[in-house]
Amino acid sequence: MVPLLARRAFLWGRRRLPRPAAAAQGVRRLSLFPGRSSRGRPAEPPLSPPLSAPLPTAPAAAAARLCSGAGGEAEAAGGDGAMLRHLARKLRASGPVTVAEYMREALTNPGQGYYTRRGGVGESGDFITSPEISQVFGELIGIWYISEWMAMGKPSTLQLVELGPGRGTLTEDILRVFKQLASVLGKCDVSVHLVEVSPKLSEIQAVTLTGGKVQPNPEDKSAYMEGISKNGIPIFWYSNIQDVPPGYTFYLAHEFFDALPIHKFQRTEKGWREVLVDIDPEVPDQLRFVLSPSRTPATQNFIQPEETRDHVEVCPEAGVIVQRLASRIEKDGGAALVADYGHDGTKTDTFRGFRNHKLHDVLSAPGTADLTADVDFSYLRKMAQGRTATLGPIKQREFLKNMGIDLRLQVLLQNSGDTATRQQLLHSYDMLMNPEKMGDCFNFFALLPHHRLVPPDKKDKSKSPSPPVAGFNELLLK
Ligand code: SAH
Repeated sequence: MVPLLARRAFLWGRRRLPRPAAAAQGVRRLSLFPGRSSRGRPAEPPLSPPLSAPLPTAPAAAAARLCSGAGGEAEAAGGDGAMLRHLARKLRASGPVTVAEYMREALTNPGQGYYTRRGGVGESGDFITSPEISQVFGELIGIWYISEWMAMGKPSTLQLVELGPGRGTLTEDILRVFKQLASVLGKCDVSVHLVEVSPKLSEIQAVTLTGGKVQPNPEDKSAYMEGISKNGIPIFWYSNIQDVPPGYTFYLAHEFFDALPIHKFQRTEKGWREVLVDIDPEVPDQLRFVLSPSRTPATQNFIQPEETRDHVEVCPEAGVIVQRLASRIEKDGGAALVADYGHDGTKTDTFRGFRNHKLHDVLSAPGTADLTADVDFSYLRKMAQGRTATLGPIKQREFLKNMGIDLRLQVLLQNSGDTATRQQLLHSYDMLMNPEKMGDCFNFFALLPHHRLVPPDKKDKSKSPSPPVAGFNELLLK
C-alpha cells in the first residue's frame, strides 16, 4: 500500500493537474518574472488500486491479478480502438511483448500513438507541467544556463537542445531571459534545437516559438523543420538526438525521461522474470500482464546481481540517451539539466496511465492515455559512466529556492497592482514549491564536465576555484 502522503505527492505531478484555462486561451506573457496565471487547486483524482503488490508467478494468476478492462472501453472512452486492434493482431500473431514495446507502441506509434495523435500536453487536457503553471519556472532555468555559460568562460557559440518540448513553453520562457540578458550574452551565437517525436506537438511548438513561420524539410540539414524565433534565434526540429549537430550545448529534459519505455521485472522463486503484455485468450481484445516463462535477454542484461528489490523497472532508452549526452558534453562542453519525478534506485512499481487528469489503467484503451514511469536517477548516474560529473537529484523546491524563487516572488508581489494577480502568483508558487504538490516529487539532476566541479587548488592559490553550480545546494560529486 502506498502511503497516502506519497500518493498525494505523486498525484500532483505532471499528469494530474487540470490545464489552466489560460493555457487553452494562450496565456498572457508578462515581462520578466511575473507568474503565469493558474486556476485554483483542482479536484484530486480518485486513488487507483495499488499496483505495488508482487505479480503472481504463474501467467494465469497474473492475468487474474492485473487484467485490464480494455475492449469496449476504448470505444466508450472516445478512442477508436485502432491501437488496441493493432496490438491485439500483433500479440495473436507473435505472442506477448515487453512492457517497453507496449509503451513505445502506445505512446509513439507513428499513426496511433498517444503523443503522435493526441499530443497530450495542454491540448487534450490530460496533464499540465511546471512551465505551463508559472513562467517563473522557465525563467529560473534560463538563468541557470546563463550562469553556467558564464562559469564555463562564455563560449562564443551556444546550442540549447530541449528533449520533448511539449508546447514549447519552457524554451519560450528561456529565450525571453536570453533576450532580457542580451547584453550579458553579447555576441554569443545562440541556436535552439528541439528533439520532438510528435508532429502534432512540433506544430504547436512552431506556433509558440516562431508564430508558425517554419520551413519543413530544410535541404541541407538533418532537421525535419526549421524556423526563426520571435527574437531572431534559429530553431531546428529533429526526431533523434543523434541528428543534432555537435558543439558546445546545454541540454534540457523536463518530463521527458518518464515518457520513455521501461522494462519491468519480477523476482520469482525461479529467479527473475520479465513482465510482458499479452492478449487475454478468454476475452476478445483485452490485454493482460503475464510473466515470461524463463529469463529473457533483458532479465540477463538489466538486473544487477546485488539487486534487493522484488520488482524493478529499467528504462534502457533513457540510459542510451544519457550516455550520448555525457559523451557529447565530455567532447564539446556544455551541461544537461534533467527535471522529472523519480527516485534514486529505490522504488518498485511506478508504471501509471493518465487521462483527463485521472489515473488510468495502463492496459486499457492504449493510445488514448499518457503512460509514464518514475525516472531512476541512480540509473542515469550510472549511465553517465564517469564521462561527466553528476549533481543531484535535488528536490524541485530546493532547486528553485536556491535559484532565488522567493526573492522573485517578493519583487513580483510588490510590483503587482491587483489582488487577482497577487493571488495567482501565490497560487502558482504554491503549486511548484509545496512538498505535497510538485515541490518534493520532482527532482533536478545535472551532467557537467568534470573540470566544472574541480575543487579549489590548495597548492596553487593563483588558480581561482570554479564558482558553485547554481541551484544545487551541495556539490555532490558522484
Ligand atoms: N517538456 C514538456 C513536455 C513533457 S511531455 C513540458 O514539461 O511541458 C513529453 C514530451 O516528450 C512530449 O513533447 C512528447 O511528444 C515528447 N516525447 C515523448 N517520447 C519521445 C521520444 N522518444 N523522442 C522525442 N520526444 C519524445
